Amino acid sequence: MYARLHGDGNEQGSVTARVLDGRALADQLRDEVAPEVAAFTRQYGRPPGLAIVLVGENPASEVYVRNKLKTGREVGVRADLERLPGSAALTDVLELVGRLNASEVHDGILVQAPLPGSLGRDAASRVFDTIAPEKDVDGFTPGNVGRLVQGRPTLVPCTPLGIIELLTREGVPIAGRHACVIGRSEIVGKPMALLLLQRDATVTICHSKTSDLAAVCRSSDILVAAVGRTGLVTKDFVKRGATVVDVGMNTVTDASVAASLFPEGHPRLARFRERGSMLVGDVHPSVADVAGALTPVPGGVGPLTIAMLMMNTLRAARARVGASGRSPARIS
Ligand code: NAD
Repeated sequence: MYARLHGDGNEQGSVTARVLDGRALADQLRDEVAPEVAAFTRQYGRPPGLAIVLVGENPASEVYVRNKLKTGREVGVRADLERLPGSAALTDVLELVGRLNASEVHDGILVQAPLPGSLGRDAASRVFDTIAPEKDVDGFTPGNVGRLVQGRPTLVPCTPLGIIELLTREGVPIAGRHACVIGRSEIVGKPMALLLLQRDATVTICHSKTSDLAAVCRSSDILVAAVGRTGLVTKDFVKRGATVVDVGMNTVTDASVAASLFPEGHPRLARFRERGSMLVGDVHPSVADVAGALTPVPGGVGPLTIAMLMMNTLRAARARVGASGRSPARIS
């Protein structure tokens, strides 16, 4: 990919990574979940319901929420946006979540992060802890996290769940392999490491204080980067032939950063110059010369996260009505 565009694709030993197409898999997952959502709706006289809580006006959150609502509509899930102004108090948010916990029509509740800083430092944990565990489609509540740690069935955070689905369907071996996860957040890094461990990988969790990060990562067969730093993962982090999953979503507006990622003449650089910004991951595009397989940004992990949110909503709905089902149970 990158190598070809650089004109150095024939360099001795150069690999051009297979692209792991998250968008295509997300489309497939949507096609799989839609009939199951329809069957649920027929049987129970209502669709699975998802409430998305959005507090304030963060432009990135607006985009994410719009995409979630759109996908909900596409698969037949009832997806409602519950908006609060940036001036809302923490008690308003807690009250809204309490109301949604009691709602008959909502099976899942997602509070879009980040919450406005004005709500206070412990706002996120107070709000997430208030969500009824059976409606916790983000898999954030302490009980659900505990169940994940113990390997019991539970609602699992959507991004790592989507990554496992991608690796599995792409036939990437996990058992017995060394997996490195860079990042230790509650939403990606930690659950990712746990899911890989459950599948018998030998897992290393790296973070901002890890010494000689590149050397640690270089010994891994599966490398997951979930940091939020443009181009952090360079070729020297990657073992030849390894599978690299790029979770990072970073907006680049600096022309010199864009030029450090893509060579002159690359179509993405041309598009950047037209638009003034572009979305990139944590993995430098030149890693495609070394990796065996690589998720692109955009079009890799992002679309999968939303598809898994729909899976989790259906799973939560089925659990609430006491039904069991094939698809979401198979996933995770
Ligand atoms: P976070 O800020 O909560 O955590 C970042 C982690 O990276 C921390 O654990 C920190 O220790 C580690 N870190 C920071 N600097 C580092 C360094 N120099 N070297 C090694 N480790 C370092 O972030 P998050 O919420 O886990 O998100 C990470 C990235 O993934 C962001 O870009 C975010 O936008 C993206 N993301 C994407 C999706 C998706 O659907 N594609 C979902 C969630 C998050």
